[in-house]
Amino acid sequence: MPSDETKFLLRENQIPTAWFNVVPSMPTPPSPPLHPGTMQPIGPDDLAPLFPMALIGQEVSTQEWIDIPGPVLDVYRTYRPSPLYRARRLEAYLGTPARIYYKYEGVSPAGSHKPNTAIAQAYYNKAEGVRRLATETGAGQWGSALAMASAFFGLECQVYMVAASYEQKPGRRTMMETWGARVVASPSDETAAGRAILAGDPDSPGSLGIAISEAVEDAAKREDTKYALGSVLNHVLLHQTVIGLEARQQMDLAGDTPDIVIGCVGGGSNFAGLAFPFVPDKTRQGRDLRFLAVEPTACPTLTEGTFEYDFGDTAETTPLIEMYTLGHKFIPPPIHAGGLRYHGDAPALCRLVKDGVIDTVAYPQTKVFEAAVEFARTEGIIPAPESAHAIRAAMDEARACKETGESRAILFGLSGHGLLDLTAYQDYLHGDLIDG
Ligand SMILES: *Cc1c(COP(=O)(O)O)cnc(C)c1O
Repeated sequence: MPSDETKFLLRENQIPTAWFNVVPSMPTPPSPPLHPGTMQPIGPDDLAPLFPMALIGQEVSTQEWIDIPGPVLDVYRTYRPSPLYRARRLEAYLGTPARIYYKYEGVSPAGSHKPNTAIAQAYYNKAEGVRRLATETGAGQWGSALAMASAFFGLECQVYMVAASYEQKPGRRTMMETWGARVVASPSDETAAGRAILAGDPDSPGSLGIAISEAVEDAAKREDTKYALGSVLNHVLLHQTVIGLEARQQMDLAGDTPDIVIGCVGGGSNFAGLAFPFVPDKTRQGRDLRFLAVEPTACPTLTEGTFEYDFGDTAETTPLIEMYTLGHKFIPPPIHAGGLRYHGDAPALCRLVKDGVIDTVAYPQTKVFEAAVEFARTEGIIPAPESAHAIRAAMDEARACKETGESRAILFGLSGHGLLDLTAYQDYLHGDLIDG
């Protein structure tokens, strides 16, 4: 019997103490990354200049559970467990027999799910004697999460921020600087990759691909520095499974089990974090469970990409990974969900899509903002434009239940709040938002 309550809270001592690795539950494991020079599977030594050994170990692990270190749990305790809500007012507004639940990650100090991995990555780097981290950021969500985590563990943090966002999102830049990071507009004159771009175009607006090349170069050439990535890699998805592991316990409190699990996908980390702990229910127990990964039509990686090996960056410096990709030279139009503009996606997620375990759908941004505003007016929270993709899909699934009269339980991930994205809302409300 579903509970009468609206929010489902766990106690601090119910934060999961191990992360969940989906690989043993996958029908086909993901293929290994290939070295860009030799096209042979890469070994730990190839990645050692960029990542600490503990994270490289997690990247290739086939162990189902990986213990969360105590110091990481101590920081998780400052904002976790995050709440799970039953969207009762949204259900009433839609007049649906469906039960809609959402797991809200906007309660972290950075306002999104990204600290769940930033904290773990900062911890493992510190533990192996690293002094400084280099990373890229687009709209600034990842950069701010890593800046905060670096402050907690006493690391210097250098962020290459896509130049266009550096100018347009001064709020995010100030957050990173407040947490002590050094932020430079990318392309910058601090790396060879940046200088090469600037030589051709001194006013280049930059791109995520260019910023990745700069951060990787920075980390590769400095002994005291390693690189940190906010999505796509196995270890990032692994750290995010605290979301789904908590949600499982909270669905138990709610006296319910999800029939549909929904999340937005940029590189795949928040979706995987929520959904992967439920995957064995389907692949091992054979439960009838629908997973739905939602992306923008402007960057339709899973719905229209090709499944093949491709580079992670524009400059072709990263290992090749097997994934759905739009091609590493693909430059998506500048939609407001900046966090969903990556040409590829996490290999484990792509493999599960390929094997039919996970379904996909894409929405144009006007449809997404329409749902975001309806959600804000019923549930109160102003969602991040990225998260609003999941809301749109959840609302459409709930409407479908109304037509068939089916009472299904829908669980979606609300990956962050949109309080730093208000110009996007302003554009939508003034009719200035287009689908491109
Ligand atoms: C970065 C971001 C995303 C997209 O990244 P994933 O790795 O796919 O989760 C989604 N929502 C928010 C709020 C983000 O900051």
